[in-house]
Amino acid sequence: MTSLAPSTAGTKAHLMDLHDGTPFWPRRDGLPAVHNPLRANETCDVVVIGGGITGSLVALELTKRGADVVVLDRRDAGGGSTSASTAMLQYEIDELLIDLTKAIGGEQAETAYRECGRGIDLVERATQEVGHMCGFRRSPSLFMAVKAGDVHTLEQELSARADAGFDVKWLNADELRSRWDLVGQAAIESAAGGSIDPYLLCHHALVQATKRGSRVYGRSEAVAFEFTSRRVTVHTSRDVTVRAKYAVFATGYEVNQLLPELPIALHSSFALVTQPIANLGQRYPNGMLFWDYADPYIYGRTTDDSRLLIGGNDEPYRDPLRRRRALPTKARALLATIERRLPNLSDVELGYSWCGTFAETPDGLAYLGGHSRYPRCQFALGFGGNGITYSALGAQYIADALLGPGAPPEQHIFRLERPIVKPS
Ligand SMILES: Cc1cc2nc3c(=O)[nH]c(=O)nc-3n(C[C@H](O)[C@H](O)[C@H](O)COP(=O)(O)OP(=O)(O)OC[C@H]3O[C@@H](n4cnc5c(N)ncnc54)[C@H](O)[C@@H]3O)c2cc1C
Repeated sequence: MTSLAPSTAGTKAHLMDLHDGTPFWPRRDGLPAVHNPLRANETCDVVVIGGGITGSLVALELTKRGADVVVLDRRDAGGGSTSASTAMLQYEIDELLIDLTKAIGGEQAETAYRECGRGIDLVERATQEVGHMCGFRRSPSLFMAVKAGDVHTLEQELSARADAGFDVKWLNADELRSRWDLVGQAAIESAAGGSIDPYLLCHHALVQATKRGSRVYGRSEAVAFEFTSRRVTVHTSRDVTVRAKYAVFATGYEVNQLLPELPIALHSSFALVTQPIANLGQRYPNGMLFWDYADPYIYGRTTDDSRLLIGGNDEPYRDPLRRRRALPTKARALLATIERRLPNLSDVELGYSWCGTFAETPDGLAYLGGHSRYPRCQFALGFGGNGITYSALGAQYIADALLGPGAPPEQHIFRLERPIVKPS
């Protein structure tokens, strides 16, 4: 075995502005569990840095397989991007299958789509494991063309997905209106899709991991690391350490200190949730989710308490203050779009609005797995619109990599050290 000299890498950084305004989930769920800061040295099999939906699913999977796990979060658990997410669960990646096929080949592109579909199953399985539905619902997903000029591309996409065996059907404008009350040019209706309350699932997963012996520490920042061939030592903000056989970085978008070379682009997305809408539950008994093929696009879903949760009008992440100021205007614009898109709904009133940061990768694929610079470490970075299905996949790949039988071949598609390809 190669003996590595101890190396250190600091991550001390200002807290990134992950969101602003009034994200819905913490407002609705409160603080389901409180995790005290780490105040004494710890040792464990695996230290998970980040207690959002990704870190919590990683901890859930690792503890299920018998590992002794410590979770650290510099905020309250779930207080990062997880609390701001609209949490649509999709097999569809930000990049169209036809574009991803050109970039990485048909076999890998289809596998990536299929793996995201499996991610939905894994999220459902996690809800069963924690003994709480956490608002999980399976619903068809509608991918809509809102401009006539985009219909042809959508037709090509439909045929690629159908050829690949995905359960898809075409809806013209009339069918879209009569089946879903949605106004658009056409849509691909996919059977696979779902939604969740990710904040609640995150907390329940951490509680379940705790019942299996894991320790979870909030307000505990990992500020420096020593990597050797035998262990990883994490130094925290209170001058205490966690010594572990392995480390998993589930730090969301705040990973740039360790991996500055990752070609990610930060964006701001704006979101709102309506007040409960009468009859929404009857109109969509199994829920509904949709997203546009447009730039900028909007996306939306129903919630289990009869609201619409809408996001979009994205822009490049620049100045958090400017973003905060833009929020009321952006929220009004989103609401107006929804009234046009779903004209049959009456009494659509704003509940809460917020904005959040999210990261895009050039190919729309997450970064899941190890990195040659960091022995004994795994990264679960679910960047892109499918962040949460990637979180669930990452948890499986990483548990397989660390505890056996080894990461599955599909993980290779999401490896960190892959060439940068940008589908056209
Ligand atoms: C507006 C919006 C809409 C979205 N919609 C969707 C959607 O519809 N579907 C979907 O799948 N995804 C969506 N996403 C993306 C999704 O929310 C994210 O992919 C997901 O929440 C990421 O979870 P995470 O646990 O990886 O990150 P986070 O929730 O940010 O958790 C990472 C945690 O790591 C902690 N941390 C970071 N650095 C350190 C450190 N040094 N020491 C200790 N702790 C540290 C942070 O405090 C944080 O709590 C959306 C995001 C936004 C903002």
